[in-house]
Amino acid sequence: MRDKLFIDGTWLAPAKGGSFEVINPATEEVIHHAPAGTQEDIALAVAAARRAFDTGPWPKMSGKERAAILRKISSLILERKEHLARLEVMDNGKPFPEAVWDMEDTAGCFNFYAGLAEEMDAHPEEPIALGDTRFSAKVVQEPIGVAGAIIPWNYPLLMASWKVAPALAAGCTMVLKPSELTPVTALELGAIVEEAGLPAGVLNIVTGLGAEAGKPLSEHPDIDKLAFTGSVPTGAKIMAAAARDIKNVSLELGGKSPFIVFADSDIEKAVEWIMFGIFWNQGQVCSATSRVLVEESLYPALINRLIEEAARIKIGDGLTEGTLLGPLVSKSQYDKVLAAIDRARTDGATVAGGGKRPAGFNTGYFLEPTIITDMAEDSFVWREEIFGPVVCVKSFETEKDAIRLANDSRFGLAAAVMSKDKARTERVARALRAGIVWINCSQPTFTEAPWGGYKQSGIGRELGRWGLQNYLETKQITAFEADEPWGWYLKT
Ligand code: NAD
Repeated sequence: MRDKLFIDGTWLAPAKGGSFEVINPATEEVIHHAPAGTQEDIALAVAAARRAFDTGPWPKMSGKERAAILRKISSLILERKEHLARLEVMDNGKPFPEAVWDMEDTAGCFNFYAGLAEEMDAHPEEPIALGDTRFSAKVVQEPIGVAGAIIPWNYPLLMASWKVAPALAAGCTMVLKPSELTPVTALELGAIVEEAGLPAGVLNIVTGLGAEAGKPLSEHPDIDKLAFTGSVPTGAKIMAAAARDIKNVSLELGGKSPFIVFADSDIEKAVEWIMFGIFWNQGQVCSATSRVLVEESLYPALINRLIEEAARIKIGDGLTEGTLLGPLVSKSQYDKVLAAIDRARTDGATVAGGGKRPAGFNTGYFLEPTIITDMAEDSFVWREEIFGPVVCVKSFETEKDAIRLANDSRFGLAAAVMSKDKARTERVARALRAGIVWINCSQPTFTEAPWGGYKQSGIGRELGRWGLQNYLETKQITAFEADEPWGWYLKT
């Protein structure tokens, strides 16, 4: 594991020499001391990114040239996917097969944006028809400049790729600040981009605490664009910092996503997709379908099957063969989730399944898959993001009722609906106020499609061609083509 920051193409010890502990959440052991970057290191990193943007080759290279390096990064990630996945498990806790899948998605993301970089060469400008034929106009898109990316811990390298890949494809330079809970693979990415031949200063990686490294990055005047994924309170701080210098900002924040299951659904399929929606990655997924709404007649049977199946999920260290549910990422996250379950009990809800440390696990931040029922519509557990393997299940009577309950949230990241009636799933999908709606499934995420939320779940979209737009400015170039004088002041 790497103990230096990656700044201007070199590996540097943090200016203040500090470090912070990296803990394996399955064993509670300290597995590494990561470099604690501070304001001084952020200043160096931003200066390097600024230089690389203003005077370096990267923004001026063709899309094809940038794509070649992005593809190299992609193939190096694939070559090392098992090693990277193992590091990710030790850092984050997730089951190894999930981490391998994440690494494949990460490589796929670099590859996808390589394709979009090439497409930019094919469409360098777009003519615009004007209402005045004396003028011609065209639109060109240019990299926005130096981007600052601040990311969370739930998909450490994958979340990095969602920002780094489109930013590099667009021709931007970047300073990346990973979460202090999972800094390990981001530093590996430094070694990978170095090997892939990315010019110095184009990507700089500064690990450190939110207040010590994230805050100065968000406030740095030489940053043109801030891209953030994390919690709503931190997102609000990032936006406030961006407001001071009118920086472009995109935010991917939390969620409390509903999953509506109509009575004509196949119960086994419903149970499996509910489980995938809330237990995958220990429920630490911004789009986790944490509120399940089941049509009344199906509710009793579905709850029973869900409790039965959830209790069979194999819990363990993510590196143990067969594990399907690992530990939560940290002690503080664990305590937060347990406190939310306790609060649900105090507020009168029923913990119908799980809800405690599994038997035989005395160390590690392990929690049984938890199913909560009978909660009030205004209760904390129903309304707030828990970010753990905790699902709230409620029944509904009518479609109208289901849509009202689903939309009654300050979040609007994702939603899901299940029914055999296609007209109904289409109607409900349109009525749901969320940036992502899944029909007859929950969670599958594709690099090609836009990702982001309505309401307090964020601003802007990542992934797909929308992700590239995050890192591009749009310029109109308008020419006066006529020979005649303009004739406003100088009358002839
Ligand atoms: P967080 O907001 O605590 O931290 C996110 C990042 O912000 C970390 O790198 C942290 O160091 C940094 N940070 C903290 N304080 C800062 C400050 N004052 N200035 C600048 N940076 C600061 O969130 P988290 O606990 O890492 O992640 C969990 C949250 O992220 C959940 O709410 C989840 O819903 C959300 N999330 C959203 C998405 C999405 O795509 N919408 C994806 C993953 C996670």
